[in-house]
Amino acid sequence: MTFNATVAGVPRIGPDRELKKALEGYWRDNSTGRNLATTATRLVNDYTDELLAAGLDSAAFSGRSFYDAVLDTTALLGLLPERVADIADHDNDGLPRFIDRYFAAARGTKELPASAMTKWFDTNYHYIVPELAKDSRVELDDSAFLEDIRDQVTRAGEAVRPVLVGPLTYLALSRTVDGSDAFAHLEEIFDAYSRLLKRIADRGVKWVQFDEPILVTDFAYADAAANEDLLKRTRAGYEKLVEAAGAGDEGVNLLIQTYFGDGNAAIELLSGSGVAAFGVDLVTGGAAAAELPAWNGKELLAAGVVDGHNVWRTDLDAALKTLQGLKERGPVAVSTSCSLLHVPYSLQREQNLNAEVQKWLAFGSEKIREVAALSRTLRGEQTEADEQLFAETREAIEDRKNSTLTHNAAVRERQDAVTDADRRRDSIEARREAQKAELNLPPLPTTTIGSFPQTTEIRQARAKHRKGEIDDAAYTQAMKDEVADVIKRQEELGLDVLVHGEPERNDMVQYFSEQLDGYLSTEHAWVQSYGSRCVRPPIIFGDVSRPHAMTVDWYKVAADLTDKPVKGMLTGPVTMLAWSFVRDDQPLGETADQVALALRDEIDDLIAAGARVVQVDEPAIRELLPLRKEQQPDYLKWAVGSFRLATSGAENKVQIHTHMCYSEFNELIDTVSNLDADVTSIEAARNGMQVLAALKDEGYELGVGPGVWDIHSPRVPKQQEVDDLLSAALDSVDPSLLWVNPDCGLKTRGWEETTASLEVLVSAAKKARERV
Ligand code: GLN
Ligand code: ZN
Repeated sequence: MTFNATVAGVPRIGPDRELKKALEGYWRDNSTGRNLATTATRLVNDYTDELLAAGLDSAAFSGRSFYDAVLDTTALLGLLPERVADIADHDNDGLPRFIDRYFAAARGTKELPASAMTKWFDTNYHYIVPELAKDSRVELDDSAFLEDIRDQVTRAGEAVRPVLVGPLTYLALSRTVDGSDAFAHLEEIFDAYSRLLKRIADRGVKWVQFDEPILVTDFAYADAAANEDLLKRTRAGYEKLVEAAGAGDEGVNLLIQTYFGDGNAAIELLSGSGVAAFGVDLVTGGAAAAELPAWNGKELLAAGVVDGHNVWRTDLDAALKTLQGLKERGPVAVSTSCSLLHVPYSLQREQNLNAEVQKWLAFGSEKIREVAALSRTLRGEQTEADEQLFAETREAIEDRKNSTLTHNAAVRERQDAVTDADRRRDSIEARREAQKAELNLPPLPTTTIGSFPQTTEIRQARAKHRKGEIDDAAYTQAMKDEVADVIKRQEELGLDVLVHGEPERNDMVQYFSEQLDGYLSTEHAWVQSYGSRCVRPPIIFGDVSRPHAMTVDWYKVAADLTDKPVKGMLTGPVTMLAWSFVRDDQPLGETADQVALALRDEIDDLIAAGARVVQVDEPAIRELLPLRKEQQPDYLKWAVGSFRLATSGAENKVQIHTHMCYSEFNELIDTVSNLDADVTSIEAARNGMQVLAALKDEGYELGVGPGVWDIHSPRVPKQQEVDDLLSAALDSVDPSLLWVNPDCGLKTRGWEETTASLEVLVSAAKKARERV
């Protein structure tokens, strides 16, 4: 039993975001359940059809998904949180019976909080965190899943390959609500999967895939010794699964899939256990990942040579060479490096891309074609069309290498001339002195993170402008009015450092990417971020530069209306990369420095226009942190370096702020200090200022604004709560360094709760000032 060509996983949201629309319809009005069910069915069917039509002979199939694959697994294992248990199951127009409990876990209800959501490894996809307790019991709830499989088998026969989250990864990503050990459930989940495999086998399935990406992280490398017992139990679990699956042509074969890093540890752990194949990422993870020393040719290798995480054409000649080398060592199938969930569906949908750049790109459909062509060529069955694809690719790659779009001489020259001195400001003492004289702020100054409510009027004006229903002048005037309103409100509230409110920004990355050279925006290239939410990341294709100032006019509109300092607002280099598709033809650090130089010029222009406070947001600095510790220092070096390159041109009297929002901060405190921003605002309200204790231990000496208002819900904090948070902050932070601000920007909030909450915040600051 073998196969030749496949992909590691499939997208679910639909080429036109059909699932998004059906989901949002269902959430508004349950009567559209039938529509949701048939939409989801059609999407999985269409995708299977596309894979097979392209010539793939094994089709990854993750079932109809209604929100997130980890949550699907949770429901399948009967592990939805206890608090949703009272929501009744019902027959619902072809939807799984648990659908209302499932959505209650994903999104919460009026009464019940939602489960936590967090980023899937180092991607911008979010999964719903499983919540377990000591007495959680696995109870397969597989009727919906089995029905989906039956339908798929009718459609695609033995090519259907159901995908499940592997037990180790599932538990490693879960949290326990009672402090018990999540891994206590490991054997139980293996047992449940054993029962499931038998049922799947009965339906004529020949392959099942278990995703175990946790095995590319330090869990199986730096921390392997500490996890030795768990790794052994995992091997034992898979041995039992193999037994349950039955052997050879009669039974089900297991494919163990890893991605986002080096697959060697997974192979070392599970080779010889009876699993039939390993799927590995040969694109990310360094030299060892590419050479795969652990693979001894015993099991089939699904070689992920086509990048599932980025949008560039595969160098087919190079990939073929890799595949031929591997084929000498054992049986090889061609695959993608990870699920195609992370790239847009098809390049064919884009009508207005730069024609030259378009030739360099490959989205989902194009990647499927690459896999098929590589597989046929590897087997000596290359078609004429394949040959043409190889030729076309050669040309595109050559063109990309030599294009003036990728090589802007002026940018290169400037970059080559950067010295360490360009990444260094004067001493913090000298800066503090100069800023004090310039800004003349009260102790515990109050400010916000940048955005104010993006009201329906703002979004409607933007939509009308896009459709050409209002002209540039009318749109700009509407936004200016908005800025004026925001300034007036901040003055009334008594805030100390004001912002213009960011009404003109659709998104903090897209806004800048649209104005920078070297960046490209798409029209239809949506990828799922979480649930029904999609993003359209811009593409960095070439050397980045700034043809004109990007924010200065907006700064001036605001600054002219007030005597108080107004913060200039920029998005930092790391975040500009994290939320885009990046170049794969130069190190990320080089691209980050190009963005940094553009921002450096923007800061110069802001200062020339009178700005004395400039904030450079870096909310994504943690997200790009490599999964393996050994790779983190290099990353942090360029990440910090690019931030400093962007900001170090500012003279002493100019106060540089940065903002980061996530609570797991402790491992990054050094990094925050190295950024050397005069003031850093961070998320802190939800975990009650815990992060500050760590800052204190580190002897942190720069300004800090721990959020005192959790902006993630419309709830207005009580005066006492904010007073308490501020007192707690003062226990750890010297009063001369402390700022008072919310956790994050306010664009998702309404005005009512914003005004009420900021009143509370300002009053807490005023009271605390009297005490210090
Ligand atoms: N300045 C941005 C805002 O306020 C920051 C957003 C973020 O941290 N994600 O919206
Ligand atoms: Zn934030």
